[in-house]
Amino acid sequence: MGQLAGPTDPSADARWPKRKPRKGFFTDTSICIGCKACEVACKEWNHNPRDGDLELLGSSYDNTGALGASTWRHVAFIEQSQERIAQARESGRALVELGMPAIGSQPDTSPPNTPEFRWLMSSDVCKHCTHAGCLDVCPTGALFRTEFGTVVVQDDVCNGCGTCVAGCPFGVVERRSDGTAAPGTRNVGVAQKCTLCYDRLVEDQTPACAKTCPTTSIKFGDHDDLVAQARARVAQLHAEGLTEARLYGANELDGVGGTGSVFLLLDSPEVYGLPPDPRVPTADLPQMFKRALVAGAGMFAAASLAFWKGR
Ligand code: SF4
Ligand code: SF4
Repeated sequence: MGQLAGPTDPSADARWPKRKPRKGFFTDTSICIGCKACEVACKEWNHNPRDGDLELLGSSYDNTGALGASTWRHVAFIEQSQERIAQARESGRALVELGMPAIGSQPDTSPPNTPEFRWLMSSDVCKHCTHAGCLDVCPTGALFRTEFGTVVVQDDVCNGCGTCVAGCPFGVVERRSDGTAAPGTRNVGVAQKCTLCYDRLVEDQTPACAKTCPTTSIKFGDHDDLVAQARARVAQLHAEGLTEARLYGANELDGVGGTGSVFLLLDSPEVYGLPPDPRVPTADLPQMFKRALVAGAGMFAAASLAFWKGR
C-alpha cells in the first residue's frame, strides 16, 4: 500500500519503474468566457453521450448542471446577485470583473459589469488527486494511477459497485446509469470520469479540452510548472488590487495532498460547489486501526479476566 496522506509524487508512490513528469491542469477562471468548447471537445473525443434531452435548468443559463458520468468537463455558470456581491465586498476584497466579448467599440454593458449582477465561470474537472479516494477504496482495482500521476478507470474491470462514488471527496466520479444513457450507450453501469485524456498523453498529445479552450483558461502541462504559473498569476492579480483571486488544489498539505488539477478562483470554493477542506477517506486509516487494536486488546483482557475469575 502506498502513502495514505501528505505530500508525495503519486506515480513514484505507485511504484512506476519508468515514470513521467506529473501532468495536470491549471484552470484560470479569471479568463473563462463560458463558451463550453471544452465540454464539447471532451464529449467528442471520448464519445460520451449527451446528458438528458436538451432540457433547460430554469435556474441558470448553464444547461449541463454538473459533472457526471457523461460530462467529464463542466463549465459552471455562477450567477451572483447584488446580495452575494455585497457579501464578497464586505470581506474587503476587490472583485474581478469578467469582461464579456463585445462587437466593435461598443461599451461593455454585459451583466458582469453591473453593480447588481456578476457572472463567475469555471470549467470543472476531475482533480486527479495526489491521494485519490476513488482509487484507494476501489475493491476491484479498476482505478489505477498512471505513469503521469493521473487517475484512470478501466471500464472492463469496473464491476459497477459504486464504492468509488462515495470515496471521492469532490463528487466527481459517477456510474453511467440507465436513466440518463440512451439505448445502445456503452459503459452503462460503469464508473466514469475524466481520464486526463490518457490515450492522448501516451501519444504526447495535449488533452482535447485544453487544446480547444480559446482563451487558454485551461492550461495543460507539467504539474510543478503549472503550480508556479498559477502562483505568479495570483500575485499579478493581487498586485492589480484584485485581491479576491485565490488558488484551489495547490496546497500539498491539504487533506488530499494537493491535486493534479489546480484552479484560480474568484470567490470562496463553496461558491463554485467545491469543498473548502477536501479529505481523502483513507487518511484516517492508521488512527482507525489503532483504535480497533486498542478495543480488541481491551475485549481480550476483559474475556481473559472473566475466564480466570470463573475458574
Ligand atoms: S477528484 Fe474524485 S474522481 Fe478525481 S481523482 Fe480525486 S477522488 Fe478520484
Ligand atoms: S482531459 Fe480529456 S477526458 Fe479529461 S476533461 Fe479534458 S477532454 Fe475530457
